[in-house]
Amino acid sequence: MIRFEQVSKTYPGGFQALKKVSFELPPGELAFLTGHSGAGKSTLLRLVALMERPSLGRVLINGHDLNKIKSRQIPYLRRDIGMIFQDHRLLMDKTVFDNVALPLYIEGYTQAEAKKRVQAALDKVGLRGHERKFPIMLSGGEQQRVGIARAIVNKPPLLLADEPTGNLDPKLSLEIMQLFESLHQVGVSVLIATHDLALVARMRHRNLVLKDGFMIDDGLAGSHFDPL
Ligand code: ADP
Ligand code: ADP
Repeated sequence: MIRFEQVSKTYPGGFQALKKVSFELPPGELAFLTGHSGAGKSTLLRLVALMERPSLGRVLINGHDLNKIKSRQIPYLRRDIGMIFQDHRLLMDKTVFDNVALPLYIEGYTQAEAKKRVQAALDKVGLRGHERKFPIMLSGGEQQRVGIARAIVNKPPLLLADEPTGNLDPKLSLEIMQLFESLHQVGVSVLIATHDLALVARMRHRNLVLKDGFMIDDGLAGSHFDPL
């Protein structure tokens, strides 16, 4: 699903955000990505989401080598990746239905065709019946679940979440993580960047740890990392 081989990312200006990072996430796995602020988590997720290209090394996503894909292929390949953000990035002047249907409209579905998919996605996140509401009428946890419904509405095999519980209290955070777990249980691959180490400890999944751009632990038993 995801494979990094000795990947480095240097931003214009010379800052090296990732340094020789190697890891593999097999299909259907759920893993966390942790590390201090500035460690490179968002950079790693942006590489997986085809929003950046590596400076050195090889990134393979769903069998596609990021160094070889053409820019015009990217929108198509990105359909296989659902993204969830800390600030959920909902359109506040659109209803819950339209927010969730957005990826389907972009793919050319009609509203009638989209309806079944949107309802299935809202069902999955426990928000059936909220279709006509606007995001402002929902709690923070519910807004985040709308963001998740939008990410899963076209059934991508891979979900990426960048600090999805950053604005939520511990109880809601756990509910959101359990939602990711239920998606993982039906075969979706999930990679979640988070600061919430207590939650990570509680969930008992693989934890990839970044420090100053190095991956200092890939969460596999018996692996030994020497970043130098
Ligand atoms: P994290 O998500 O772990 O906080 P980031 O990947 O966002 O880490 O950032 C890693 C480092 O790379 C930070 O020091 C950040 O300032 C830098 N960085 C991120 N994006 C850019 C960019 N577009 N241009 C230059 N530097 C960047
Ligand atoms: P967060 O991790 O909170 O989402 P990021 O650190 O990824 O935030 O930064 C948000 C945006 O700002 C990204 O598009 C990133 O590329 C850009 N960015 C981050 N750090 C820098 C930097 N040092 N110079 C230029 N752009 C940056």
